[in-house]
Amino acid sequence: MDISISNLTISYDVVVSITVASIVLLLIWLILNGNNMINKNNAHDEKLFKEPPPAEEDCPICFLRLPNESSGYRYQSCCGKVICSGCCYAPVYDDKGNEVDNQKCPFCRTPRPTTDEEMIKREKKRMEAGDAIAINNIGFNFSQGLDGYPQDWGKALELFYRAAELGNTKAYCGIGVAYSGNGVKKDENKATYYYELAAIGGDSSARYILGCLEANAGNMEIALKHFMIAVRSGHSTSLELIQKIYTNGAATKEDYTAALRSYQVYLGEIKSAQRDKAAAAREDYRYY
Ligand SMILES: [Zn+2]
Ligand SMILES: [Zn+2]
Repeated sequence: MDISISNLTISYDVVVSITVASIVLLLIWLILNGNNMINKNNAHDEKLFKEPPPAEEDCPICFLRLPNESSGYRYQSCCGKVICSGCCYAPVYDDKGNEVDNQKCPFCRTPRPTTDEEMIKREKKRMEAGDAIAINNIGFNFSQGLDGYPQDWGKALELFYRAAELGNTKAYCGIGVAYSGNGVKKDENKATYYYELAAIGGDSSARYILGCLEANAGNMEIALKHFMIAVRSGHSTSLELIQKIYTNGAATKEDYTAALRSYQVYLGEIKSAQRDKAAAAREDYRYY
């Protein structure tokens, strides 16, 4: 009986020791993993709020930054270049200084398509050749049922993935929109993940959506951070929103002034006399 009591005592000591050791190990694990998680979050935020590159390359003709406003540039279904409205509108001269027929691509001089059907055919050809912009554009048409394409979010999503794989940042935003409950099963985490990829790559619409999501969740400080970056990329709606937030008292005067200043810097980069001329002549060439 004694032996068994002493055995029990020993067992009890062992149990206590093991328990203490387990608690210590658990604490160490929690501390290490806690730090890892904090580091992971910091690395994520650093990546997310880093100044992104412009979503598009500069205009290949005038070498100026392309405007953020979609009417400020045109995709050319002949050569796949994205050309600013100013260069699209500008007259083209031959080597003798004579103005040539302007109905040609200002980059590759291919005659412009005369019908919508021809343009769609050319874009399809570029899609088949693996042009990421064409793939994303056609994905967008499928998502909205535009340009003779039936509305088909499944097909759109497939094309967005393909364009994104080929390096088209905007396509990530399309994937985000799909997972926000358009055509495929809603998955908010997935949607945010793709909006973030697009925003990191310089897509200001995705950045704006992220800002709105944060604002709706009451995280106004983070929302402002997103809107501020979107403004630096020329997203005018984000600027209007910052003004509203300032008027409502959730942003400071310094925030609003900084946003205005950023937008001025952006305008300084995209403004040109030729683009002004194009915008004055045609409303659909408005570039800011
Ligand atoms: Zn240009
Ligand atoms: Zn061309």
